[in-house]
Amino acid sequence: MLSFFKLNEAVKLKSQEEQDIKDILKKLPKSHAKLISGFELTLEPNNGLKGDKKHVGFIHKKKIHVAAPWNFSRCHVFCHEVAHMVWQELMTPELKKEWKSVCKKMGVPKDIETDPEELFAHAYACHYCTHKAHTYFHKVSDDFIKQKIPH
Ligand SMILES: [Zn+2]
Repeated sequence: MLSFFKLNEAVKLKSQEEQDIKDILKKLPKSHAKLISGFELTLEPNNGLKGDKKHVGFIHKKKIHVAAPWNFSRCHVFCHEVAHMVWQELMTPELKKEWKSVCKKMGVPKDIETDPEELFAHAYACHYCTHKAHTYFHKVSDDFIKQKIPH
């Protein structure tokens, strides 16, 4: 069953997953959570997205879809999508340039991911999720997320 709700303070909780989303929103900087206030979140039941088996999440036009992937937590996918908004709204051109040099030091195998924005979104998710996705967790990127992103 699809579950969707508007992301805001007054959301009525219908499931444990919705509570989980509220809990992770509390862990994010308020200015980041605010970026997705009023967005419609859909938690999809399968490994990939409906009609798009290659992706596990997307954010577009005030809608966020999060699949239930095998290799990542939903929390990781959700935070990854939030990070795309952070990248778009809060990262200055200077910070993006600095981030690109961090990417070179991360050591993520190039066949896995090379796009700086995608690497940023993964590193962001690793920083805020309790259980880190090992492939994308590196001290150099975690320090950047902790110290450089505007809050
Ligand atoms: Zn992404």
